[in-house]
Amino acid sequence: SQQFTQPLAELGGMAAVLQSGTASAERVFELLDEEEQEPDSKDAPEPANGAGEIVFDDVTFSYTPEQKLIENLNFSVEPGQTVAIVGPTGAGKSTLVNLIMRFYELDGGRILLDGQDIAELRREDVRSRTGMVLQDPWLFAGSIRENIRYGRQDATDEEVLAAATACYVDRFVHSLPEGYDTVLDEDASNVSAGERQLITIARAFVSDPQVLILDEATSSVDTRTELLLQQAMAALRQGRTSFVIAHRLSTIRDADLILVMEHGSIVEQGTHDELVKQGGAYARLYNSQFEQAVSDLDAEQSQLTS
Ligand code: ADP
Repeated sequence: SQQFTQPLAELGGMAAVLQSGTASAERVFELLDEEEQEPDSKDAPEPANGAGEIVFDDVTFSYTPEQKLIENLNFSVEPGQTVAIVGPTGAGKSTLVNLIMRFYELDGGRILLDGQDIAELRREDVRSRTGMVLQDPWLFAGSIRENIRYGRQDATDEEVLAAATACYVDRFVHSLPEGYDTVLDEDASNVSAGERQLITIARAFVSDPQVLILDEATSSVDTRTELLLQQAMAALRQGRTSFVIAHRLSTIRDADLILVMEHGSIVEQGTHDELVKQGGAYARLYNSQFEQAVSDLDAEQSQLTS
């Protein structure tokens, strides 16, 4: 029940602190450094001009033959919907989103992006339509403007500014003497952890992907920054098909579809109301955490009044 740590904090009104449950960012960048596996097909079709519909059609995948992971997975997501993926560490959440980016080839089945099998498309075409925001913001030693523009090299200054404004970067950049020309240190220590995350959200915004992958696990930031991050993520998700490795109750509750994963499978899928009514794994987790949060709150209040 690792993934409910954060909703618990939220329900209890405590500061949002969560240890990272995955090492997905590292894995992704390791993969990016790897040599391309198979070359793209020479007669790869032109990418469809669709709105970002995703279909998992009988998807089977494992890293090694000894350890079976995802088997015959089926679900479909309409353009613009938000999918919350929940489940304990090791359940396969990161693997599932990495498959959408085609970081691995499937052992069976297909993933369709607007009706096209992503295995047949050029990787570049899959990835240019897909944006990813990971929990460890990756910034380079350059100006804030350059770091945002990295999302799309031909973005105009106006587009960079629009993304920065939508993602709450503009607010803190205002108070920096050199504004968007502020050069980030090697470790970006001249901006806070939350501000670094906002910059990477603005970078994804400027790249304008149709499909988004968000890892919601947060580093420890104060409650105000946490709220800004949530709002920036919501602005980014607007109108895009989004897969969120979700830790916040608000995201999970508001999602169009919740995928509950265990041991590589989706054990339940539906909306919050449907899954609570269904009374299965999700309902048990939700109820136990909710009760826990309420009793924690009671304990906190009785401490305050005693
Ligand atoms: P989650 O994101 O839900 O924590 P993961 O998708 O990271 O789960 O992991 C699912 C399972 O696959 C785990 O048993 C994990 O150890 C294994 N796994 C993840 N990445 C790799 C990899 N690159 N090579 C081999 N096994 C992996």
